[in-house]
Amino acid sequence: MAEFIRFDRITKFYGPLCVVKDLDLGIEKGEFVSLLGPSGSGKTTLLMMLAGFEQPTSGSIVVDGRAINAVPTHKRDMGVVFQSYALFPHMSVGDNIAFPLQMRGVGKAEIGERVSRALDMVQMSALADRRPIQLSGGQQQRVALARALVFEPRVVLMDEPLGALDKQLREQMQLDIRDLHRRLGLTIVFVTHDQSEALTMSDRVAVFNKGNIEQIGTPREVYDAPATRFVAEFIGETN
Ligand code: ADP
Repeated sequence: MAEFIRFDRITKFYGPLCVVKDLDLGIEKGEFVSLLGPSGSGKTTLLMMLAGFEQPTSGSIVVDGRAINAVPTHKRDMGVVFQSYALFPHMSVGDNIAFPLQMRGVGKAEIGERVSRALDMVQMSALADRRPIQLSGGQQQRVALARALVFEPRVVLMDEPLGALDKQLREQMQLDIRDLHRRLGLTIVFVTHDQSEALTMSDRVAVFNKGNIEQIGTPREVYDAPATRFVAEFIGETN
């Protein structure tokens, strides 16, 4: 299968600090790839460069055959979900999801249709009129997911989206996100420091260490045949 997203020799400095170093990574269309590694290993920075919130110091990012370094965030056709879902407390669920559409001047009728499709995707249609405070943590995270899906992007980027949820909710959301990935044929890039989350959810796992990828492979490959001592030790912390 052709690569859909290509990071080519990406390096990122913050001042004198090199946080991503000469990194190559290819992601296929429809793939679910986790960026897994300890805190500070550069996972979020890579995701932010793909989203367009940060620029690489050098190297190129190609999506669907097109170099996107100079493409602004809102034209990258990507949805982004963070750990802190940051819903607007004074707005209903439906209005929270409509907000990014209003900001971009989408017409009222289209907003209505898109919001209802997005709510449907995350099975939250019945709760459209609630306020965030009336929802559980998992439901709030589903609204954040709907907001990321409202433009029906081909790629969804998630940065520790389940980090704030308790174990039971987290496991339910893991299943929900997998299901969404399959149903919508999304390409998902998922940042986590949780080994078992990466291993259970992903088609492939990229194990990060100090700004580069130590190993990339299927969960089985990474688990059964760690390529380096670092991978063996990091994955070994799972239990
Ligand atoms: P991870 O997602 O693996 O935890 P990050 O990409 O968030 O790693 O961070 C990698 C390194 O870059 C860390 O040392 C972090 O402190 C640093 N860093 C991240 N963002 C900035 C920033 N805006 N300015 C300076 N340093 C940053």
